[in-house]
Amino acid sequence: MAHLPSFGSASSCPCGACGSPRLGVSRRQFLCSAAASAAVAPALGASGAALAQQAPRGAASGRPILIKGGCVLSLDRAIGDFEQADVLVEGTKISAVRANISAPDAEVIEAANTIVMPGFVDTHRHMWQGILRSVLPDGSLDDYRQLVQRTFGAKYTPDDVYVGDLFSALGAIDTGVTCVLDWSHIHNTPDHTDAAIKGLAESGVRAVFAYGNPQNETGRFWEMKGHKFPDDIARLRKQYFSSEDQLMTLYMAAPSAAPELILQSFKAARDVGARISIHVGVGQFGRSALLEKLHAEKALRADTTYIHCCTLNDTEWNLIRDTGGTISIAGYVEMLMGHGNPPVQKAIDTGIRPSLSVDVETSVPNDFFQQMRTVFSLQKNEVWARRLAGDKNPPKFLTVREVLEFGTIEGARANGLERKIGTLSPGKEADIILLRTDLINVMPLNNAVGAVVTSMGPQNVDTVLIGGKVMKRAGQLVGVDFARLTRLGNEARERLYSNANVPRSRV
Ligand SMILES: [Zn+2]
Repeated sequence: MAHLPSFGSASSCPCGACGSPRLGVSRRQFLCSAAASAAVAPALGASGAALAQQAPRGAASGRPILIKGGCVLSLDRAIGDFEQADVLVEGTKISAVRANISAPDAEVIEAANTIVMPGFVDTHRHMWQGILRSVLPDGSLDDYRQLVQRTFGAKYTPDDVYVGDLFSALGAIDTGVTCVLDWSHIHNTPDHTDAAIKGLAESGVRAVFAYGNPQNETGRFWEMKGHKFPDDIARLRKQYFSSEDQLMTLYMAAPSAAPELILQSFKAARDVGARISIHVGVGQFGRSALLEKLHAEKALRADTTYIHCCTLNDTEWNLIRDTGGTISIAGYVEMLMGHGNPPVQKAIDTGIRPSLSVDVETSVPNDFFQQMRTVFSLQKNEVWARRLAGDKNPPKFLTVREVLEFGTIEGARANGLERKIGTLSPGKEADIILLRTDLINVMPLNNAVGAVVTSMGPQNVDTVLIGGKVMKRAGQLVGVDFARLTRLGNEARERLYSNANVPRSRV
């Protein structure tokens, strides 16, 4: 698979400040400095309240939805960006992106004072841990394996998996992550698997379900009885994933184990046409030249996403590129827990555009603003350090636009969905977010891409559509019973701590 080239400074927007690529077509509008704030008229108040009164429940009526008058970042280079434009959604898909769309039958979402862009795409999150948020704020990777996987994971019930996945998925939608790969390694029994899929389906998120290994007290899952990994993926393909035309798709989450076990899982995946995701290059353990060994067995192909990649050798990096693989960087957790330096520059040097991921909510916030800022500041810090050290030919600095692409279209590519999502393009699925620009953390708007990457947070996520369905509106998740969620979360927490024999202190 070809990887997109980096935007060079030679093709940048003439304003010299916004980092926008020059697309060179007159109708395309760029969001430079004062022009953007002038064009986005303050038609509504500074809160989301005005939008709430007009909130359509998109999928309920079956009518088209017209997202009107927003500052549109399509992230599709053939379409460009608009200081003010409309997006028309018909059924599950985007049918038009341009200024002044007339659609008399449509329900209108007024988008003044918002940035309209594709939803974020996460390529690796262990969603069963949605009930273990912040459980390990100070821990290392070894602590994580011991507490989260071998203590809690070994004792998870199917109900715990269901609630964990549901919480993590709703949390993703709430922060504007419309597609997430659930790297699901909690399949102690097939009932655990069914429960994970149920939680994802109920949430309405666009999920990539990556089926992985079970957990036990020793970490040696292959010694366990009662699990069906990896062969149960054949049942999943038949029972849940027989169509490609659905919100959820199937991956294999290949284990961190001996090469023979990895190869076995690769074969089970490819036998049912599922793509693959695997953790590699993690700490000392990642220095085993694993990818060279897998390559010797002709196992590396374009259907695989490699997570972390912090301690891979140069040969392994070249193998990923030459076989067309994609990568997922979870920069925040990699710095926190000892995986190794997040390989942002290494990926760029190799010619691979990374996707981003949250990984574990046990230690990491669940939003993509954090992920984007982490890799952005890290890469720039490394380039500055090389300049300070006298490097006469340092790499180029990343731009905010490139980082926004990592969080959207590159994620779509790694999740095998680039033809469906990742940009606002007619014909693609309508996974769209509206980010408020009239809140005190970003107003007045001077540079749209800059505002999203440098200043925004989950509080700016006003509206979220997934497959044309309105999932969040005026800052509130639609159709979610919070009283029920609270009860489910508390019950699961109590049950899990008791089963795992962990003291139930919250402080
Ligand atoms: Zn992980």
